[in-house]
Amino acid sequence: MFGFTPAVRLSLGLVILTVSILILAQALGLTPGAERQQLDVRKRLTETLASQVGVAIMRGDEILLQYLLESSVERNPEIESAAVRRNDGMIVAQTKLHAQYWEGAKKDESTPTHIRFPIMLNGAKRAEFEISFEPLLNDKHPVFGIPSFALLVIFMSLSGFVGFWYYIKRALKHLDPSAVVPARVRNALNILAEGVLILDRREQIVLANTALMEHLQRTEQSLVGKKASNLGWFLDPKQEAQNYPWLVAIGSGVKQTGVRILLPADSERDKIFLVNAVPILDAKGSSQGTIAVFEDITELETKSRLLEEMIEQLAATQVAIENKNKELTYLATRDPLTNCYNRRALYEHLDGKFDGARASDAEFSCIMADIDFFKKVNDTYGHATGDEVIKMAANSLREVVRDMDMVARFGGEEFCVILPGAPLEQAQLIAERCREKIESCNTNGVKVTGSFGVTSIRMGANSASQLVQQADEALYYSKQHGRNQVTCWAPGMESLIAETQH
Ligand code: GH3
Ligand code: MG
Ligand code: MG
Repeated sequence: MFGFTPAVRLSLGLVILTVSILILAQALGLTPGAERQQLDVRKRLTETLASQVGVAIMRGDEILLQYLLESSVERNPEIESAAVRRNDGMIVAQTKLHAQYWEGAKKDESTPTHIRFPIMLNGAKRAEFEISFEPLLNDKHPVFGIPSFALLVIFMSLSGFVGFWYYIKRALKHLDPSAVVPARVRNALNILAEGVLILDRREQIVLANTALMEHLQRTEQSLVGKKASNLGWFLDPKQEAQNYPWLVAIGSGVKQTGVRILLPADSERDKIFLVNAVPILDAKGSSQGTIAVFEDITELETKSRLLEEMIEQLAATQVAIENKNKELTYLATRDPLTNCYNRRALYEHLDGKFDGARASDAEFSCIMADIDFFKKVNDTYGHATGDEVIKMAANSLREVVRDMDMVARFGGEEFCVILPGAPLEQAQLIAERCREKIESCNTNGVKVTGSFGVTSIRMGANSASQLVQQADEALYYSKQHGRNQVTCWAPGMESLIAETQH
């Protein structure tokens, strides 16, 4: 009803009832009004005077009669005039201006201002004694200027309302609101591991189950009637929800789920609750309160955080292992002196690439290179200088070849270059450039040359090793024919090696 609280509504009802009773009592003449008392006094006064007037009439003493009338007017300020009227209507005696004062009198009837009294002599009415009084006391209140009864009603309404309201409010507080929840429902809720709060539409707690009381470390008495938002917990700032779910559920009438609430605890970490709030709707669909369920996920959260940390550590370890593996793979596939691929890595790649090129009928070439008279370098300048020369040769080859080509240290000062997609002529050109580069280099004052053998998949090799062998045969040819030169493999060269070796 107009959004009033129950206390206000009850108080209004009681005020209306009280005022109605007051008005009824007034209507029934039960109130001891000042007006009524005054009227009684006037009647008694008239009666007394009438008996004295009767004596004067009986004596036929007109002077006494006149005196009695005059003196009664004088002595009683309320009396305006008095007269004695015979049965035939003639005035026998009267005070000043009586005719004027008696004007408003009702015929044969007494009123509070005009009272008649019969004067009886020997059982018969001989005359009538008339007294005109001043109007009854002004009934209006001297300060507020409104009738006393209306003032009483207003006073009763206001003071009654305040008194009733205060009393009812106190009384309602003392009534146990939790009594509205039946015992079996309460027992069922107490079995739950989750905390449960039943709130009214002002979010005041009507019921808190055992689990929730334990979480909050509070008794039911200290919780009932409290507002749920004032229990020391707060919204987890790391989430979208901007308001407590029970407030939203009450306000919107829509169920709220999965809102995180943090409760500061004695231990280092806050307790974490996942809260769902379901509105309690009346028949018209407007929400009368809510049931909020609190799931304690503190432990779960701790475990998942630990798990996350472990996963992070694991990921870090994995990266470290991968890096280590890369390093190992690098070391395992490289020659430590020159950083070129080693022979094992060469063959690992070579087989696959050769087969791939053969299957797709792609170009594929191979160069073998060897430093000329290298022994002499070692012998003349020492092993360390020899190493520098080998490094120079490797760098020269790497500088000249394309990114996709693979330079491998095949043996002491012997290199093998794989050139996928390069036809023989291109490989020959690259080999020539390599030769020129080595020839042009000066390593700590030492100058060397190199011999080269080139072949391509188009020369008929059936395997990677056969291809390398062809290149090696062509290199041998270069060595045999004056060194510091590039030779492309041609059929028949294998026999040449055989001949020389014999
Ligand atoms: P050729 O022109 O016929 O190739 O003559 P060569 O003197 O270069 O002969 P060969 O290729 O047979 O000699 C290779 C020498 O390289 C033998 C070995 O002592 C030397 N050698 C092999 N590995 C290394 C190395 O890592 N460092 C140094 N300094 N010398 C090495
Ligand atoms: Mg050599
Ligand atoms: Mg050699």
